[in-house]
Amino acid sequence: MRLITRNDASLVVGLIAGTVVVFQRPLRVVWDAAGDIQERYDVDLLPALTIFIGVFIFHEARKRQRSRAEAAFVAAEAAQARLRAAELERLVAFGQALSNALDLATLQHVWWRHLPTFTGEREFWVLARRNDTWETIGQDTNALRGRPLEDLEAMADRTLSHDNLIENTLEGLVVADGLCFPMVAGGVVVGVLGIHDGAAVAGNHRKALGVVAGLIAISIRNVQLLIETREQGFRDHLTGCVNRGYGLEALDRELRLARRSRQPLSILMFDIDHFKAINDELGHLRGDDLLRAVGVQLSRVGRSTDVRCRYGGDEFLIVLPDTPLDGALHVAESVRKAMRTLAMVAGDRTFPVTLSIGVVTAGGDELGITALIERADAALYQAKRDGRDRISTGAVPASAE
Ligand code: GH3
Ligand code: MG
Repeated sequence: MRLITRNDASLVVGLIAGTVVVFQRPLRVVWDAAGDIQERYDVDLLPALTIFIGVFIFHEARKRQRSRAEAAFVAAEAAQARLRAAELERLVAFGQALSNALDLATLQHVWWRHLPTFTGEREFWVLARRNDTWETIGQDTNALRGRPLEDLEAMADRTLSHDNLIENTLEGLVVADGLCFPMVAGGVVVGVLGIHDGAAVAGNHRKALGVVAGLIAISIRNVQLLIETREQGFRDHLTGCVNRGYGLEALDRELRLARRSRQPLSILMFDIDHFKAINDELGHLRGDDLLRAVGVQLSRVGRSTDVRCRYGGDEFLIVLPDTPLDGALHVAESVRKAMRTLAMVAGDRTFPVTLSIGVVTAGGDELGITALIERADAALYQAKRDGRDRISTGAVPASAE
């Protein structure tokens, strides 16, 4: 503890003056003695003493100044180290939370909780890249700021179009008014993390955000791989549609949901007409090619929430949640049109691809999936009986009544 501080200057001056007054006489004696010595030995003792004292005071003052500067430097270093340690702790906590998230919803929850501790007041957004399209999987409530999502997608495109993608993963890239980090995991471009008004973010802080982007990239990739692995278990490899077991489970789930929410649910079942002829005339491999192409076309029709299922052989089931009969008939017509483009050519022969489709809608009291499937199947065979290449709702056509 210091007894005398800067604020006590007047006190110190007073003390010195008092001391001088008190020791005035002995000092004068010393002063006179010094004068005598000067006289006697013909030396300049007093000027020399004055210089010694002056140099001593100057030296001490410099020493104090230097040690004060050193102390300030050490304190600044310690403060930096404390900041880094706190940042590291936050990064570790973030990494741990991410490693426990096994689906996208939980991932988003972790981002909301942890990302603001790195972005501060700045809003952020995360776009994931999958199959050449952007998926919005996370953004602050205000991150859009009233501008269209396409703006963020354009910023993300610009971020990924840069040459030195890997270098930018740590430093980020200023795009428009945002700081964007390409997210790459395992050599795969996973998406882009964007920070609004991020151009002014300082270097060290930018690096921390780069590490954050890296952690997010790994977590997204992990979840994507997990989803893919799970999906492989219930997907039909040839068509990419879900298999029969999963399709029936999904139908059961959707039927319960439709009953609870009083929303309509429709299904359509279709079967390729004269598929055996393609197998017989062109070979099973060409038959497989056609089934594969049917799967691709199906993925382009309808909504992402529709369930596309390979029911068996050349028969498919599509579950259409929230869809009344007229909507389902519309989807059926789109499917029919899409498949027509798959006509197979062998030499001078063309094998048109047509479908027979049965469409039914679940009644409000429809309890089980079996009855619903049976009705759709009956409608499908009605379409076959009516001459193929058509859609049937199971009702007997007017001409046959
Ligand atoms: P229809 O108009 O009555 O449906 O006539 P179809 O010739 O299509 O007859 P059906 O639907 O009963 O025949 C389906 C055929 O599909 C029988 C089977 O050999 C063939 N098939 C089933 N699974 C596969 C497969 O994975 N690959 C190939 N290439 N053929 C398959
Ligand atoms: Mg068939």
